[in-house]
Amino acid sequence: MSRIHSRDTKPELIVRRYLFSRGLRFRVNVKRLPGHPDIVLTKYNALIEVRGCFWHRHPGCKVATTPKSHVKFWKEKFRRNVKRDALHEEQWAEEGWRVFIVWECELKPSVRTATLDNLYDGIVADATARPAAYGEGEDDGAGMLEAAEDPLEINHENN
Ligand SMILES: [Zn+2]
Repeated sequence: MSRIHSRDTKPELIVRRYLFSRGLRFRVNVKRLPGHPDIVLTKYNALIEVRGCFWHRHPGCKVATTPKSHVKFWKEKFRRNVKRDALHEEQWAEEGWRVFIVWECELKPSVRTATLDNLYDGIVADATARPAAYGEGEDDGAGMLEAAEDPLEINHENN
């Protein structure tokens, strides 16, 4: 379990680095939200999950294989992962978050730019229609230091 949601996995860093370079500021691994979403942009009422295709079973993806041995074990493990992801998505939607899922394979070099540009456009698209103060109220600023941190800085925990 800890490997699935371990902090600062490389694909997540790619996304964070990009968003930061486009001027967006965010929090990471927000503990008070269900499932501790990877990236939260309070200003845009958006959250992003960066998912590994194998563990989280990207539908139709060639990376989402099932190992040949201990098949029952793997299937049960995958089933739980998918179920948990679906539950979190439901909870986030109920809280009014706009949820963006980025699959790891969508970050491979040949498609990375398109994926990230689409993500950025999706995040900021709705934002202009909102009252200026929307979503700012609950932000107590406690995460601002973290949000302003250099996204390239890698957590020193070994994982
Ligand atoms: Zn995939």
